[in-house]
Amino acid sequence: MRHLVLIGGGHAHVHVLKQFGETPLPDAEVTLVGRDIETPYSGMIPGFVAGHYSFEDCHIDLARLCRRAGVRLVHGEATGLDRTARRVLLKDRPALDYDLLSIDVGSAPNVGAIEGADQWAIPVKPIAELGRRWLEFCGRMKTWLGPLNVLVIGGGAGGIELALAIDHRLREVAKAAELQVTLATKDEILTGQAEAARRRLRAIFRRRGIRLLEQSGARRIGRGAVELADGQWHQADAVFVVTEASAAPWFAETGLPLDERGFLAVDDMLRSTGDDRVFAAGDCATVLEHRRPKAGVFAVRQGAPLADNLRRVLGGEQPRPFVPQRRYLSILGTGDGRAVATRGDWAVEGRWVWWWKDYIDRRWMRMYQ
Ligand SMILES: Cc1cc2nc3c(=O)[nH]c(=O)nc-3n(C[C@H](O)[C@H](O)[C@H](O)COP(=O)(O)OP(=O)(O)OC[C@H]3O[C@@H](n4cnc5c(N)ncnc54)[C@H](O)[C@@H]3O)c2cc1C
Repeated sequence: MRHLVLIGGGHAHVHVLKQFGETPLPDAEVTLVGRDIETPYSGMIPGFVAGHYSFEDCHIDLARLCRRAGVRLVHGEATGLDRTARRVLLKDRPALDYDLLSIDVGSAPNVGAIEGADQWAIPVKPIAELGRRWLEFCGRMKTWLGPLNVLVIGGGAGGIELALAIDHRLREVAKAAELQVTLATKDEILTGQAEAARRRLRAIFRRRGIRLLEQSGARRIGRGAVELADGQWHQADAVFVVTEASAAPWFAETGLPLDERGFLAVDDMLRSTGDDRVFAAGDCATVLEHRRPKAGVFAVRQGAPLADNLRRVLGGEQPRPFVPQRRYLSILGTGDGRAVATRGDWAVEGRWVWWWKDYIDRRWMRMYQ
């Protein structure tokens, strides 16, 4: 009997669980360590913020998925590895022995890079925490009178969707407030994506009265205000930080090879370049031969090859390489029942694009709920 430990209930691991449920692993015991039992599906979180989805719509119940897959669930948080003794170290719990390990713990915006962010900003990760804080915030905003300034820092897909979703929801909830949502980002929005998508989104921000400050990185966050790159302080009653993904600090102490940003370095089989017993997928891993943006779509796509390779290794076979696609479809909800889709150098927009996104996301969720 061999013991496979899965750390984190991220997008790739939920597929591994489903796969093991459909075709059980012979002669292997599997344990999943998850910090959150209800694991969020990132693609639908801005829709949750906008008020289109309920909590249940956009969360996967790991306990149920594990039960169906015959996988033991440990509700806990991994804090490190003892690779010599082959043990996963857990917070406030005894360590777990492993023969084979797979890590899919995601990433978090680098709040440490902005002074005061850990004290004053509402964190968007863990996403489970964002959901709770957001509902609380909406509750308080119902009776808010006068100016209400909300600042979102970070102009990637997550930040854009979040700013648009917040604007939409607060206009419904904070009826007596004079709302101003602002998105500030250090470069231009959506770097690396089509110019056509940037053009459309800038027009949407203008139309909706959402202030967009490009080339305006945040320097410092204080009580009720944020200092941007130009040295000006901008009023902010609430600040959300959705900046570049950063790696879990405990990776640095595992002795595993990391990329230059501290993410686990893996080969094209999703296996650590320094330890045959460790696999990793999703945001927390960087496939050195095929670097891609840290986005949920890639974590989702890695689910099937990861499940296949874990099964092969447990069966004494060689894992197989996997080449992720270079171009990918990105659909950004604009919070108001519309969306912008972009792939390669084109972009389209409309209500039907939102229906399309909603269909894709709900279909994905149905597979795991
Ligand atoms: C607001 C927002 C909107 C976004 N929208 C999109 C989008 O529309 N499309 C897109 O492609 N990407 C989107 N992203 C990016 C997306 O969130 C990530 O790329 C995606 O979640 C990565 O998936 P993952 O499987 O790597 O990890 P995650 O989905 O983050 O899952 C990690 C899991 O591991 C668990 N975990 C973490 N640490 C530990 C630990 N130490 N021990 C045990 N368990 C642990 C967590 O509880 C979680 O369940 C968005 C991000 C944000 C912030």
